[in-house]
Amino acid sequence: MIELPFLASHTVAVMGLGRSGMASAEALSRSGATVWAWDDDGARREEAAARGIPVVDLASADLAVPAMLLWSPGIPHTHPRPHPVAMRARAAGRPIICDVELLARAQPQATYVAVTGTNGKSTTTALIAHILRTTGRRAEAGANLGTPALALAPLVRGGVYVLELSSYQLELIDTARFDVSVLLNVTPDHLGRHGGMDGYLAAKRRILDHAKASGTIVIGVDDGPCRSLFSGFAGAVPISAQAELERGVYAPEGLLIDHRRAAPQVVLDLRPIPTLPGRHNWQNAAAAYAAACAVGCDPRAVCDAIASYPGLPHRQELVATIGGIAYVNDSKATNADAAEKALVCYDRIYWIAGGLPKEGGIEALRPHFGRIAHAFLIGQAADEFAGTLEGAVPHTQCGNLATAVARAHAMAQAEDGKGAVVLLSPACASWDQFASFEARGDAFRAAVEKLRTGREARP
Ligand code: ADP
Repeated sequence: MIELPFLASHTVAVMGLGRSGMASAEALSRSGATVWAWDDDGARREEAAARGIPVVDLASADLAVPAMLLWSPGIPHTHPRPHPVAMRARAAGRPIICDVELLARAQPQATYVAVTGTNGKSTTTALIAHILRTTGRRAEAGANLGTPALALAPLVRGGVYVLELSSYQLELIDTARFDVSVLLNVTPDHLGRHGGMDGYLAAKRRILDHAKASGTIVIGVDDGPCRSLFSGFAGAVPISAQAELERGVYAPEGLLIDHRRAAPQVVLDLRPIPTLPGRHNWQNAAAAYAAACAVGCDPRAVCDAIASYPGLPHRQELVATIGGIAYVNDSKATNADAAEKALVCYDRIYWIAGGLPKEGGIEALRPHFGRIAHAFLIGQAADEFAGTLEGAVPHTQCGNLATAVARAHAMAQAEDGKGAVVLLSPACASWDQFASFEARGDAFRAAVEKLRTGREARP
């Protein structure tokens, strides 16, 4: 937990009591600050009160009293309409910031690597932290991924905070400056909350504007918006998974090439690394390589560390191999775009898909239907997906995940052999049948484990 002694005699309002808000309220309380915590959800308020955190209705409190308003990035504060509490704080002249800003103020001696992008943030953040730790550096990873910023451990000089930052968090930083700023990619997402693509891009751009003058900027140049941003940052390191560049770090064929200076040099073959399958992961690896080198890691040691990356759960996670068939949990693929990244990695797929459908369904995946041996459909999207697959891919309505895993397993084992994959990559949100994509992935893993061992997995 981060100590905030500079706020000891201050009142701080905390809006939103999810994981990060609750951690912030506790860090502030322990540091001697007077906390005014609020969440529109009564259950959260009760939980805060039970933990000894004072609850104050920020809709009616005098917001001139707190020194600042610590805002949970999950709560929209500007779009689609200004949040009344945010408006009142602004009218009272109080800054609205997020926990990452306080971390940066509290731990100025540490090094900061910040990562954003529409996709690949978590993988790149986890990969950079893995590289740093493997090469002997002290590293703490969190913020949008895993541990909230103020629940991270303090670091001495030389230690590195690797922070995954969402566009919402980036909007709520102020004086924080990063030693390495990584912008992976930008494709349209969360547009409602940012008032359109310009607003979304402006939020992402803040990671570049908040680079230290002596810092390193790493930008993926495989999409138009990022390419145009790159042209405004002359010293930035460009990265690509699609093309060879005049300079930078790139891996268009899966061979990682370091061309930051001098002549291009092949430093690592990414293709055999099981935890980084697919071109999208080559982009993540190129970014992680550039970032780790920028904070002083030895390039050769960085490559060894990339090769030993253990992977993150729910992102093309190999959970078992049974009878030569791989069972892959890609529950994080909550839309067709993300599912496509997994589908293109395998040639013969027993595909488990469905859940709460997203607009557009799976029509965009049609070019990859030839890879699918059979589809096993679950959840609310099942009928719609069946309609799209009709005449192109054999499919079975399974209702729920347990049935889908059992059927996919039986068919794959009976019909296929080495090289085939049973893939959960749902192209849907999970909320019709599960609490989260993590719960869905855990259920898949448990079902596969049961098939492998013949026993229920221990909770
Ligand atoms: P994020 O934290 O940005 O959501 P993750 O690392 O958790 O990203 O990856 C989520 C999904 O996004 C992956 O399962 C994959 O389908 C896709 N993905 C990962 N990296 C990239 C990338 N660099 N470009 C495009 N898609 C990606």
